[in-house]
Amino acid sequence: METQQCTIGVDVGGTNIRAARISSAGDIICKKIVAGSRDPRTALDLITSLIREMDGPEVTAIGIGVPGRVDATTYEVFSGGFLDLSGLDFKTVIERIFGKPLALANDCSMALTGEARVGAARGLGNVVMLTIGTGIGGAAMENGRIVNGKQSAGQLGHLSVNYAGRQCVCGQRGCVETESSGSALRRHLDEAGYALETRFEDILPLAQAGDERALGIMKSWAGPLRSAIGTLSATFDPAVLLLGGGMGQAALDALGFLPKAQGWYCTEVRAAALGDDAGVIGAGIAAHDLSLQTDGAASSKAKGKRVLMVNGIPASGKSRLSHAVSERTGLPILALDTVKNPFLEHLEGVDRLFNRTLGKASYQAIFSVIGDAPDGSAFIVDAWFGFQPLELLRDHIAAAGVTDVAEIWCHAPANVLAERYAARLDQRLPGHPGASYIPELVELAGRASPTRLGPVYDVDSTKPPADDAVAEWVKRTLLERAS
Ligand SMILES: [Zn+2]
Repeated sequence: METQQCTIGVDVGGTNIRAARISSAGDIICKKIVAGSRDPRTALDLITSLIREMDGPEVTAIGIGVPGRVDATTYEVFSGGFLDLSGLDFKTVIERIFGKPLALANDCSMALTGEARVGAARGLGNVVMLTIGTGIGGAAMENGRIVNGKQSAGQLGHLSVNYAGRQCVCGQRGCVETESSGSALRRHLDEAGYALETRFEDILPLAQAGDERALGIMKSWAGPLRSAIGTLSATFDPAVLLLGGGMGQAALDALGFLPKAQGWYCTEVRAAALGDDAGVIGAGIAAHDLSLQTDGAASSKAKGKRVLMVNGIPASGKSRLSHAVSERTGLPILALDTVKNPFLEHLEGVDRLFNRTLGKASYQAIFSVIGDAPDGSAFIVDAWFGFQPLELLRDHIAAAGVTDVAEIWCHAPANVLAERYAARLDQRLPGHPGASYIPELVELAGRASPTRLGPVYDVDSTKPPADDAVAEWVKRTLLERAS
């Protein structure tokens, strides 16, 4: 049996250290949790022994999420809290011991990567996350990439929401971390005269029943958080803002007691979905991304080919967008349907299964064409890439000598897709599934997601087209970067 390649994701906390083998689809293959340590050297020893236990020939790269600020380029850790790992040279130590590339980032950045690929924000490229625990962590993602600024952006717990507020460790006053973290809730409970053992779960039903004291805590605890969310919404304009961490759901419940957000900045706030596993999953995914980049870098000396994947399920608007980008960039389009349709026209009695086989062959044909093209050429590939396993796509990309990929993710709400698909039924060639496919399409819309093999641009095809902006992004991300 062929062994599937995987990575190791590690999530380092002061209380626990988790490690897991992560598949290229972002699934946990196996996982181990050990008690952490506040001593940095001991923590590093625990991390290396966990990785050693999980390592094997099928492991291609390692990802580690750590508390504190991390330089996105040098991987220097330069602050910490309960566990302070600053000064430890992870890159040298891990790469020397294991001989595999390392992705290192702040733990919340890793958690956001996990949630955006396989969790509560799956399929979205523009997402902001706050993790609420003893403190407040944060991370922001733009077009599928973590925003790092010059070094370590995304320390969203240190958004000041009250310039005359309490002193924060970061040097500012009234940071959302000092006002709306788990520690702040404890302070509010103490100040309101609740017993030491009182927890959020105890006062939630009281607040729901209209108890003034409990309601007061909800408002004073969640109010500063609401203010920070408004600021984040104005700064990043995310598709969704996730609340994670041990108190993420509690914070979401508490926000429910505030008057409904109004005005310009009313981003949807959602609970994170992966719980305590978000960090290891995200770290594993970041490691997969890194190994793909490393493969690309190794062969890019030969200046390989470049592919813009225009991805989305049927009726999501791929074809129109591919043509718009092609007109603006001069890139040729290789569309799966263009290759497949002549066969559907000429072959008799194509049923759904045969149609699928033709699809698979057409997919391969597209990459064969790219494989024959000279190095440095660039193409638009228009297909629903999710109809075949991600592993196969990786193989096709490698075999064709493609070293740079970018992706445009086209999507629309399920009901819109169903209407569009129904309206085009009479134009479909034999072999294409008919009206009976619509319920399947609706279900697919709920779980489909981009491949994220490279940077992603998210296009909601129900919004007015922004073709010029998309084409500019393609030039900047794929064409200028690789030349
Ligand atoms: Zn602060």
